[in-house]
Amino acid sequence: MRKQICILGSTGSIGTQALQVIEEHPDLYEVYCLTANNRVRELAEQARRHHPAAVVIANEDHYEELKALLDDQPDIKVYAGAKALDEIVEADPIDMVLTAMVGFAGLSPTIHAIRARKKICLANKETLVVAGELICQLALEHHAPIIPVDSEHSAIFQSLVGEDGNKIEKILLTASGGPFRLLPIERLASVTKADALRHPTWDMGAKITIDSASMMNKGFEVIEAKWLFGVPASRIQVLVHPQSIVHSAVQFADGSVKAQLGVPDMRLPIQYALSFPQRLTLSGERLDLFRHPLEFFEPDLAKFPCLALAFEAIDRGGNMPCILNAANEIVNRGFLDDRCGFLQMGEIISQTMQRVPFDASPNYDTYVETDKEARRIATELMNN
Ligand code: NAD
Ligand code: MG
Repeated sequence: MRKQICILGSTGSIGTQALQVIEEHPDLYEVYCLTANNRVRELAEQARRHHPAAVVIANEDHYEELKALLDDQPDIKVYAGAKALDEIVEADPIDMVLTAMVGFAGLSPTIHAIRARKKICLANKETLVVAGELICQLALEHHAPIIPVDSEHSAIFQSLVGEDGNKIEKILLTASGGPFRLLPIERLASVTKADALRHPTWDMGAKITIDSASMMNKGFEVIEAKWLFGVPASRIQVLVHPQSIVHSAVQFADGSVKAQLGVPDMRLPIQYALSFPQRLTLSGERLDLFRHPLEFFEPDLAKFPCLALAFEAIDRGGNMPCILNAANEIVNRGFLDDRCGFLQMGEIISQTMQRVPFDASPNYDTYVETDKEARRIATELMNN
């Protein structure tokens, strides 16, 4: 029986690479559902190629267009709206849900998929940043495995295979350092979105590329690692590794360090999340260590205050990482729309973290409220 897969965010960078992986293994995987937010034409094209049972367009304004585009495909059901995402992930035939959509919007469908006991292949790190504690609790309760897709977390996960019961002393989380690694700090004020979108090693969606330039992405990944592997942030060390070859590592009680290496190619962690514990063949470039010197540096927290803010948020706990994420979503969008400067992003996030009421033990409703309030305040600060 082929595994039935639902891809939330199939038109994005992770989504399209996941479809390439699935195409390489037609005997193992079948697409059950594809979803997107706005890219209705791409979604329709994907549906024609992969013949899912259903497609969902989250933005309801595009429903009629999608319906018309798939008019001659009576076997593909067409739905629209955020609620339809929550419902579709629960469909009986689905074995795995790949959460490849961006931002807070991924939280609700992920919760629904966990409650329906689906295997979660988690790319949407914002879900764990916002509500890591709740998600881990639910996953445990409903016996839903969460397998990371993020390359660093996949590397840690792979390093932990066969280590059941062995204590993690430290996680070594690598970071490329982004496009501004070597730029003098005084020039950061004038960088443009075109500069920030030029990532040195990975080709990704716009939001995460900006987060990588500010190193907020690495801060998010510290929080993501904390929840996935149960290791406090104080035992997660960020290492700037410009080559993006060592995807991350784990240090054990005997001092041994296990890492996973490879050329930067997201298809590998995507495929591993689908096929774990098996390893399948994957076409593509192989690592040649003669060509790649491996370097490691300490991150510069003064130059990248967003990374420091993420450490502060996880240290405070409660709804603070949710505030961090919401404010970041606002300034990230603002930076991409030329409404916010690069250095302003960290300043607005920091001020939002001071202004939104702190809640030490939030539940789902608190997260929704916090997200709303933090967006309101960050927007207000940005427009002032
Ligand atoms: P992307 O912008 O390329 O694609 C996002 C996808 O999500 C699109 O299909 C879009 O239609 C959909 N989407 C966006 N907003 C939505 C909403 N409100 N409701 C429903 N659907 C929505 O993004 P990406 O780079 O593929 O990243 C996806 C997720 O994976 C992010 O959480 C990112 O942090 C994570 N991630 C990405 C990479 C990468 O290499 N791209 C690596 C690690 C982790
Ligand atoms: Mg990553």
